[in-house]
Amino acid sequence: PNELLMLCRPGFEADLAAELQDRIQALGEQAEVEPWMSEGLVRVILADGRPANELHRQLKLEQLVFARQTLVALAPLQLSRDDRLSAIVDQVKASGWSFEEIWQETPDTNEAKALSGLLKALERPLSSHLKKRGALRRKAGGRRLHLVWRDGDQVQLGMSFPGNRSEFPGGIRRLRFPHGAPSRSTLKLEEAWHEFVPRDQWESRISEGMQAADLGAAPGGWTWQLVKRGMHVYAIDNGPMDKGLMATGMVEHLREDGFVWEPPTRLDWLVCDIVDKPARVIVMVERWLLNRWCRESVFNLKLPMKKRWQEVDHCLEGLKRRLEDAGVAAHIRCRHLYHDREEVTVHVRLQ
Ligand code: SAM
Repeated sequence: PNELLMLCRPGFEADLAAELQDRIQALGEQAEVEPWMSEGLVRVILADGRPANELHRQLKLEQLVFARQTLVALAPLQLSRDDRLSAIVDQVKASGWSFEEIWQETPDTNEAKALSGLLKALERPLSSHLKKRGALRRKAGGRRLHLVWRDGDQVQLGMSFPGNRSEFPGGIRRLRFPHGAPSRSTLKLEEAWHEFVPRDQWESRISEGMQAADLGAAPGGWTWQLVKRGMHVYAIDNGPMDKGLMATGMVEHLREDGFVWEPPTRLDWLVCDIVDKPARVIVMVERWLLNRWCRESVFNLKLPMKKRWQEVDHCLEGLKRRLEDAGVAAHIRCRHLYHDREEVTVHVRLQ
């Protein structure tokens, strides 16, 4: 295979394509990057029929901003509606691939969701055919076959590998809205923790007795998450905070400007969901980090502009460079999360 297939949020294909172009160029590779507009898919075709596995390994999903899932892919198939199975099975056979599981996926669009009945009907016959051919078997290095359906007769086959993929169908981590949380935004911080903090470190890094600041806190969805983990929170916002949340006694609400407010002591966490220019948010967070006012931070960069990748890249490169120049070692990651819309989420941990 000499292709990659990436999934993203529909509407962000151009951003993912721009990101991939920059990263592929930085790796000294050559590839054609083809966004499938409003389908949440981006196809990468390597030049000169070069194999895609090496590039796939170098483009780590956790280091990409706009990709939800990344696959090594075969050429897209156009199927006959009378016999969809044969072409799929033949392509797998010709590729020599073997794998432990099959996932059928569609882009995150309403049109594609209507295909779920068809996908369900294909599940069993497909498994049994591929088993018979020895392609689906028990020990195959954790490899997974993905069938990405664009339409009832258009499918692209891809493969994913443990350690460099999303473990969620479509790369989407769905979370249940927690009872009692004051706003839907609450899921953004919860998803960020799942994404950026390994589960076995939650007890030590997101824990009881810690202190946090939440800038642009009202009505309190993010503060609610911090309080749920047993933290004391400075909630900075001119707007009103949820009454039930204030009644916990864990929150100090200050009607101040989040861009100028300074904490009375060093804290553990800084979170920020203020809607403002990304450059302005970055400079504010940078000040916190340079002063070591927090150990870790989760914040959003709002992206109402057209060239979203360029904006994110510019902000993050600037932050990285200025922390380095000041001798402050930090681990920085940024992802376009499922619960993010026109924004991305950044996580920084000081070392
Ligand atoms: N994360 C919140 C939640 O989960 O409920 C929602 C935050 S809302 C998207 C943005 C908030 O930022 C608004 O309540 C607004 O009043 C506040 N805000 C805007 N500019 C601010 C500033 N300079 N300082 C503090 N808060 C600000």
